[in-house]
Amino acid sequence: MQRNLQELKTRLLEVNDLNSASAVLSWDQTTYMPPGGAPARGRQMATLSRLAHEKFTDPAIGKLLDDLRSYAEGLPYDSDDASLIRVTRRDYEKAIKVPSSFVAELNRHGAESYQVWTEARPANDFKRVQPYLEKTLDLSRQMANFYPGYEHIADPLIDYADPGMKAESIRALFAQLRERLVPIVRAITTQPAADDACLRLSFPEAQQLAFGQVVIKQLGYDFNRGRQDKTHHPFMTKFSLGDVRITTRVKENYLADALFSTIHEAGHAMYEQGIRRDLEGTPLAGGTSSGVHESQSRSWENLVGRSRGFWQYFYPQLQATFPDQLKSVSSDAFYRAINKVERSLIRTDADEVTYNLHVMIRFDFELDLLEGKLAVRDLPGAWQASYQSDLGLAASDDGDGVLQDVHWFGGLIGGSFQGYTLGNVMSAQFFASALNSHPEIPAEMQQGKFDTLRGWLTENIYQHGSKFTPLEIVQRATGRPLSIDPYIDYLRSKYGELYRL
Ligand code: ZN
Repeated sequence: MQRNLQELKTRLLEVNDLNSASAVLSWDQTTYMPPGGAPARGRQMATLSRLAHEKFTDPAIGKLLDDLRSYAEGLPYDSDDASLIRVTRRDYEKAIKVPSSFVAELNRHGAESYQVWTEARPANDFKRVQPYLEKTLDLSRQMANFYPGYEHIADPLIDYADPGMKAESIRALFAQLRERLVPIVRAITTQPAADDACLRLSFPEAQQLAFGQVVIKQLGYDFNRGRQDKTHHPFMTKFSLGDVRITTRVKENYLADALFSTIHEAGHAMYEQGIRRDLEGTPLAGGTSSGVHESQSRSWENLVGRSRGFWQYFYPQLQATFPDQLKSVSSDAFYRAINKVERSLIRTDADEVTYNLHVMIRFDFELDLLEGKLAVRDLPGAWQASYQSDLGLAASDDGDGVLQDVHWFGGLIGGSFQGYTLGNVMSAQFFASALNSHPEIPAEMQQGKFDTLRGWLTENIYQHGSKFTPLEIVQRATGRPLSIDPYIDYLRSKYGELYRL
């Protein structure tokens, strides 16, 4: 048995190394690579992912998993070996159902659509991307149909991002959330908007970057096992548990952009840096789902980084960094500015309260498109109508409407968005449990101490990597199934105080 297990780990390590090499190339492409490198880089990454797919779907892996079945059945569910075998089997069975010619076509089409989108968005030209999006929808349906027996055609696609979750249960959760969010949004947005002019002065890039790094170091991001570089669209990437990188971008005329995206990406990175080192090189050594990942980035960004206690500690340092801009701005005014709530058109700029409405609109469209209830050509009109009814706003053009997100122009339609809202919901449930075990956490944050919170998250979430599914992690960490209640309680208490609801 031990020989089989060792053989399996050796094969999985090769797959891991190919994927990590591909991640280095991708990081380089979006940070330092000169434009002339693009054609060869695309080919190099395609070669590596093909090799990784071939190695992972090698029938020898299936044989090893079969031979290890009875061994795994004799072990506790949460043991490392049982988890490794279980998660590898799940991923292996998904991977072998998709022919490599389809994977290649999907990648080729994704690269082409992305290229067209980068030109169509600034030109507000939906017609230009329409045929590509129609093909994406067709490929997304084909992808789902490699997994017959689903309840909803989106289920197999959702399962890639959030294993074990299904369209129907997410739809029900989102319906509850919408019902309770809409009155909160209405109550806040009928009041005068908060003044965030203090964030929109001139803040030199070098100081912004230095301040952000001081903050995330104190939160617990380990620069000995990571680094930060500049890019267009911030992201986190991992090459090994000893090298987890983040990226950011700076707007000198808007202080909140780099600051909160830095904390957000550091939240993703602390999750990866907190995985137990002896899982390195196995399929368990990564965050378990897009929702749980987002719960961590959003916890650090919002529940910590936009809290009063956090700024009681950090605001004097921020004022010292930007004395001319902030000396006459009180910490209360600053706190109100970074928590301004308003109806807006762009998801990525949305505040904590309205953000989920943007996500739910997209999730519904994915289901409607996959079900055939909505045609791609009718999407821009449907987009406008949904924004009008849910947010009371309509974009003047498609660039700020249906063309604003990259996800459908390079990836699949289905499974792309639900993780953001699941993450928000989970973040509050995890945080409430951490506070329950450690009521001292808020007082510690006021003193710039985050070890107790990070320790709880590491103990209950980070260290396990992908051993458990998202719903299992929620149950194990909080003792309850996933619920919107802690999230609604959090919003009510924070924004109730801010807006006297
Ligand atoms: Zn994120």
